[in-house]
Amino acid sequence: MFIDVHCHLDSRFYDAEEVEKVIERARKKNVKIIIASGIGINENREVIELAKKYKEIKGALGVHPTEILRNIDEEIGFIRAHADKIIAIGEVGLDFLESKVDCDKQKKVFQKFIELAVELDLPLIVHSRKAEKECIEMLEDFKAKKIVMHCFSGGFKLIDRIAANGWNFSVPASVKYNEHFQNLVKRVDISQLLCETDAPFLHPSRDGKNEPSFVVESYKKIAEIKELSLKKVEIEIERNFRKLFGAKSN
Ligand SMILES: [Zn+2]
Repeated sequence: MFIDVHCHLDSRFYDAEEVEKVIERARKKNVKIIIASGIGINENREVIELAKKYKEIKGALGVHPTEILRNIDEEIGFIRAHADKIIAIGEVGLDFLESKVDCDKQKKVFQKFIELAVELDLPLIVHSRKAEKECIEMLEDFKAKKIVMHCFSGGFKLIDRIAANGWNFSVPASVKYNEHFQNLVKRVDISQLLCETDAPFLHPSRDGKNEPSFVVESYKKIAEIKELSLKKVEIEIERNFRKLFGAKSN
């Protein structure tokens, strides 16, 4: 089976009918687990509904660093109240490139989510654009252990530090053409890799709307780079997934 550990299937990008088709196509490709991530108030509620409706969809709730929320504690309260319905905290992190939220404020919010994930013993799905080092430092400081660095764009030194910490990387389907992700796959042991699409973004052929069925492209490229069969990569990645997500992975 294939697993997409990070995508966005909310109504900003897909209406109900489209989601139905997206899930159907995923089923046909044997993509059996799809983690839909929330980024803010509306999306988090939609994620809960999607996870209720489709057995393939598991929910992750969070507030994206580019989202401006007036009352973050209220949303954290909502997430805590729905902890039994989700598999991870995400998408959370820091974005010093595009966010309109100032860096200190982002750090304060990220800290709250790290503490929440540690408290609930849930993995964190981390966005770290142009703030890779800061993200790593905070995760280390607050002793988070269960981590997925999603679409990690930092350099080799930081990749090695993440690997040494025993954290995981999720490799987007754009690894098909993106050299940075290809190099990351070369460098990191397969036991620390997961796959994602970040749908609707990062289509494996650059253009068009991405979707979970395309996560297979990540697996194929990993198989090619690691010189393993596709089946072997499937088995390894599933094992990594079960290890990280524990009982919630079933
Ligand atoms: Zn994302």
